[in-house]
Amino acid sequence: MDPSVRVGRIAGIEVGLHWSLAIVFALIVWTLAGQVLPVFVPDQSQSAYWIVSAVAALLFYASLLSHEMGHALVATRLGVKVDGITLWIFGGVARLKGDVSTPGIEAKIAIAGPLVSLALAILFAAATFALDATGGPPLIEGGCAWLAGSNAILLIFNLVPAFPLDGGRLLRAWLWRRRGDRYRATATAAWLGKMCAFLLIGLGLVELFIQGAWSGLWLVFLGWFLMSAARSEEAQLLMRGALRGLRVGDVMSRDPTMAPGWITVDEFMRSYLPGQHASAYPLKTFDGALDGLVTLTRLAQVPPEERHVRRVRDFGTGMDRIAKASPGEQVTAVLDRFSASDEGQMLVLDRGQLVGTLSPADITRALGGPARSSSR
Ligand SMILES: [Zn+2]
Repeated sequence: MDPSVRVGRIAGIEVGLHWSLAIVFALIVWTLAGQVLPVFVPDQSQSAYWIVSAVAALLFYASLLSHEMGHALVATRLGVKVDGITLWIFGGVARLKGDVSTPGIEAKIAIAGPLVSLALAILFAAATFALDATGGPPLIEGGCAWLAGSNAILLIFNLVPAFPLDGGRLLRAWLWRRRGDRYRATATAAWLGKMCAFLLIGLGLVELFIQGAWSGLWLVFLGWFLMSAARSEEAQLLMRGALRGLRVGDVMSRDPTMAPGWITVDEFMRSYLPGQHASAYPLKTFDGALDGLVTLTRLAQVPPEERHVRRVRDFGTGMDRIAKASPGEQVTAVLDRFSASDEGQMLVLDRGQLVGTLSPADITRALGGPARSSSR
């Protein structure tokens, strides 16, 4: 889930909003002001209903963000990098960069969010009781009660053992610890996730077509979202399982052709391109030192009238912005570096010497997919 609007950083973690959030925000305010609050707290002015509803909806999103912050902060504390948090239509997603290494770490990160929701539910419930006991403004009391309920629902929903929800992650951590096999644990958790998703879709369809309630549509969407999330986790698992035991040296494209960085784009295309299949070329300086990487995609973007004056090096990516790996590393351990690399390519270095390049195509080929050799 990529964010549409980046809001900024909180405690070093990037927070973004997805456009779908605006629809839900409007829906929440509209339901609260138009239906919920007037029933529970009657005889208040229209503007008061709207103001309290808008504030409550904002606080609900703050609660959602706190839940995700709980995951993210514990992850950072345990040494797992966090890419950022996105809030969207079905709640929040804390995107972890890389994988957790033990079931204990997985469990601690997974439980942190629900614990925050639990604390918030208790906090808002206490505020409701305090306002009730002291005869505080009834509308604010109503807002607090709604927030206590919403946080409780968030807590319960997230604890459903459907991977990749928090409950599913806890289940996976438990299975992983019991069997000592992370792949089988993920497979079981993802299967359960899909079953829960089917159940939600089924319930939603029954509500929609038999009872004629539009809220069924919400369940169908939620089930569909869970289904695709469980599927993508499963696909990732299968890929990582198939790559298990393979080393970078086994799958990389060996002895890549190095291109001189000082020649013009035009010259490069005439003298280096014919007979080559590579999509990226390591660059060398005049005295033969490795000097970054250039991709054909980047060179193809150079306007034809500039090709005979601009040098290849001008369109290359410097050594500091390219991911590197060594031939002895596990392929599964370097996968995350692709996203961190500007060009989606990796240079494979053995004691400082270039011995190969690694691209996603090399990995597809290693998995038996239809990728052609990216070198020679
Ligand atoms: Zn969570």
